[in-house]
Amino acid sequence: MLKPESIRQLEQIVGKDCILTAKEDLATYAYDGTTTWSGTPDVVVLPTTADQISAVLKFANEHRIPVTPRGSGTNISGGSIPTRGGIVLCTTRMNRVLDINAANLTATVEPGVVLQDLNNLLAKENLFYPPDPQSFLSCTVGGTVAENSGGPLCIKYGVTKQYVLGLEVVLPDGYVLTIGGTTVKNRTGYDLLPLFTGSEGTLGVITRVTVRLIPKPAARRTIIAIFDDMTLAGDVVSRILANRIVPAKIEFVDNFVIRRVEEKMKLGLPVDANTMLLIDVDGSVEAVESEAKQVLAMLQEGGAGMARMAQDEAEANLYWKARSAGFAAIYGAARTVIAEDVTVPRDRLSDFMKKLDEISKKSGFSIVIIGHAGDGNVHPSVFTNSREKEDLDRLQDTLTAIFEAALELGGTLSGEHGIGLEKKRLLARALDPRAIDIMRGIKRLLDPNNIMNPDKIWEEE
Ligand SMILES: Cc1cc2nc3c(=O)[nH]c(=O)nc-3n(C[C@H](O)[C@H](O)[C@H](O)COP(=O)(O)OP(=O)(O)OC[C@H]3O[C@@H](n4cnc5c(N)ncnc54)[C@H](O)[C@@H]3O)c2cc1C
Repeated sequence: MLKPESIRQLEQIVGKDCILTAKEDLATYAYDGTTTWSGTPDVVVLPTTADQISAVLKFANEHRIPVTPRGSGTNISGGSIPTRGGIVLCTTRMNRVLDINAANLTATVEPGVVLQDLNNLLAKENLFYPPDPQSFLSCTVGGTVAENSGGPLCIKYGVTKQYVLGLEVVLPDGYVLTIGGTTVKNRTGYDLLPLFTGSEGTLGVITRVTVRLIPKPAARRTIIAIFDDMTLAGDVVSRILANRIVPAKIEFVDNFVIRRVEEKMKLGLPVDANTMLLIDVDGSVEAVESEAKQVLAMLQEGGAGMARMAQDEAEANLYWKARSAGFAAIYGAARTVIAEDVTVPRDRLSDFMKKLDEISKKSGFSIVIIGHAGDGNVHPSVFTNSREKEDLDRLQDTLTAIFEAALELGGTLSGEHGIGLEKKRLLARALDPRAIDIMRGIKRLLDPNNIMNPDKIWEEE
């Protein structure tokens, strides 16, 4: 519990109107996008400059006060839960787009800029920042850098780390570090950018981000396909890629999600479909027409019950809206929903689907599937009830079975949601022990007092 004197000191640094201490306010910062983790902070600090953040961290470091950086709190790994109370440092008031440089194809922003706000501004200049986590309407750029987020577009365009050119990060001792810059090429010593990108708030607070942009593709076509069998859909995805076509997006949702979205949004989705594949191809007009036709033919040959191109932009947007609503639809469907995040090699997708079916039957839990089929990133969501102890005990075994199935197929523990609190108990199964030692060493070097987002990524030693 922070002493009133400490709160007063923080007020002096950021100003009284940038501090929250009321019980109701603190409660709203006790959660993130997960449904099973919570932790109430002693104080929420809403700084407006990097200098203020530097002073807050110096103070916290000196007094060994834990600091949890936070953007919009949409992560689904428990990353912004203040497990030890202390300070939640929320960046949402640092929301200025500082520069859009069309000649250099870069943008520089403060960390609290909402991803969609950035893309709306870029669209006016015919520019495009591809990393597209499906929380884009509310997540912050700083949060997506800290999570190295990806999304449907990453099959063709890559994830956040492929776009970050420069960062300003306030280290736990208050030092304001600048790394990278505004150049596409930069080979000067060890590359620290990818270290901070994906560091989940454990190494410092990101206060400025410069990203690489690309021109908005001239054309896009959306193709919808329905399958009676999810493994057939997985096989077609492998075939499309094996034929050297890399669509901008290949997403799939299962029957539960289709029905649930339809129930909520009345979009006219095919509610009997076992699986719906949504594919976007983009690029020049000629390339898009040719690739879309080839993809359509492969879907039809691969056993799709129905496959066709969206008639126009409005119809395409409608299907993508349904896909974006997928997670929200799932979350409302049970008392507790654990939306998992594993990745398997793309040619093992069908095998993974079969394993999920076996795990669901064996455990008795419903497992609903939504995912980025194009990059093998699958989100099996397990429906349970956190109020039933028996359910929760069984749940851990079921989640472990899902991770093990992915790892056995050559996959990873997390594709995009990060480790946070959610997966730290499994980290040792996924990484070389020496790699974990190196990571812990980096953490100790930068944060010897362990004030920055403690308890995340590793079990305590
Ligand atoms: C409906 C939904 C759909 C999603 N879809 C996807 C998806 O398709 N792909 C994907 O990759 N993810 C997805 N996510 C999760 C994704 O990780 C987050 O939405 C996003 O990256 C977090 O942004 P945020 O601003 O909410 O950060 P928060 O949740 O507030 O924080 C995330 C982590 O970053 C740290 N952090 C935040 N800001 C900073 C900062 N300035 N400096 C240092 N550390 C910081 C926090 O401590 C925490 O560990 C989804 C989440 C939801 C709820």
